Amino acid sequence: MSVIPVPRRVALISVHTSPLAQPGTGDAGGMNVYVWQTATRLARRGVKVEIFTRATSSSDAPVVDAAPGVLVRHVAAGPFEGLDKQDLPGQLCAFTAGVLRAEAMNEPGYYDLIHSHYWLSGQVGWLARDRWSVPLVHTAHTLAAVKNASLAKGDTAEPRLREIGEQQVVDEADRLVANTATEATELVSMYGADPDRIDIVTPGADLDCYTTGSTAAARAELGLNPDERIVTFVGRIQPLKAPDVLLAAAAPLIHRARQAGSGVPPLRVLIVGGPSGSGLERPGVLIEQAAQLGIADAVTFLPPQPSRRLADVYRASDLVAVPSYSESFGLVAIEAQACGTPVIAADVGGLSVAVADGRSGLLVPGHDIDTWTSELESVLGQPDRLAELAAAARGHAEQFSWEHTADQLLLSYGRAMDSLESSKHAVLTEHLSRKGSLGLTEGIGQR
Ligand code: UDP
Repeated sequence: MSVIPVPRRVALISVHTSPLAQPGTGDAGGMNVYVWQTATRLARRGVKVEIFTRATSSSDAPVVDAAPGVLVRHVAAGPFEGLDKQDLPGQLCAFTAGVLRAEAMNEPGYYDLIHSHYWLSGQVGWLARDRWSVPLVHTAHTLAAVKNASLAKGDTAEPRLREIGEQQVVDEADRLVANTATEATELVSMYGADPDRIDIVTPGADLDCYTTGSTAAARAELGLNPDERIVTFVGRIQPLKAPDVLLAAAAPLIHRARQAGSGVPPLRVLIVGGPSGSGLERPGVLIEQAAQLGIADAVTFLPPQPSRRLADVYRASDLVAVPSYSESFGLVAIEAQACGTPVIAADVGGLSVAVADGRSGLLVPGHDIDTWTSELESVLGQPDRLAELAAAARGHAEQFSWEHTADQLLLSYGRAMDSLESSKHAVLTEHLSRKGSLGLTEGIGQR
């Protein structure tokens, strides 16, 4: 039986966002959580992990001992502030130089493998891989071609520059990690990736932090009314995530509950997160929308919350809505279900894996407001059905742990290391056989 190699030390590259940042606003979201959670799990399995990310503050120490076995290296590449993600392609040379110098300070062969996250990091990993002769494993997190095929109305398309850069990384990486079978299919059909080089590894949730608990206690903790029904959106606020669809769909229900009077509990929409991406151009857009819809007093906005408090947000909610236009997985959906809260999600991308349709939540096709209103009305109007979905939610979420993700990543790393060894062996064999045909092989072993 062949033994799968395990890397001793991995360079994780996350150029545009640090795993130490609070997720839920700007460029910090699911990828930060993914990088942090997998790094700490890999470290617990004996793999040393060094995360390279761009320094974005003068207070970022060059090297941070972030957790046992996990170092975060802040690489100086361009000014700390004022650079947008779209500006970062111009800083990749500086960033790569920082990565190569960090390795050069150590003994040769310091890293056994590179795992890059998002295409910008893939570009850096590609060069470092060639320099260090180690395998490059890449996770895209989102794909421009997929995003551009399902843009929200008025949203900006991902630039051609990204599509080209992303294609190069798909072509160059030794292995690709896809969150779901859907993403693997997209990599093959839209980017021509070799299916044999793709590993499907589902992300997870921190099942010790996101646990079931008392709704009443969570509402008391957050200062929310115990007698309202609450539908919650959690995430980076930008058109792609479609929080506006939730507000527009909930508005008629909020008005109807008001008109019905005391017999029907009032409905509240809770929005948690901060502006991000093209949403930064109009940070107050949801407040304006709520006012225009006449529901300003039934919408509560909370800034990005740390995970412990976010668990209370999920527990306090009757339903969590994930109406995104595209989503390679959707960590929020799993976290909510881990807290025993059902999810209503758009039937796009990885959400069809993250939500068990009809069992732990509901998948809604498209973004038609009337459809979303009637789906919301139907599920909120049937307390027994909502309770059934809630009862199944935790069980569904338990299939997605970061432990499982880390184990699957190690298998992918092992395959990448194996294939590099075999290709080195093939090159050596070819080299020897050519020398042999020239009558030179005898001297090789003797030297
Ligand atoms: N998140 C958080 N605090 C917030 C809002 C979001 O910690 O106030 C985290 C959330 O727990 C989740 C991540 O941000 O792990 C968002 O991941 P998701 O896959 O849902 O969306 P992405 O940001 O990757 O598009």
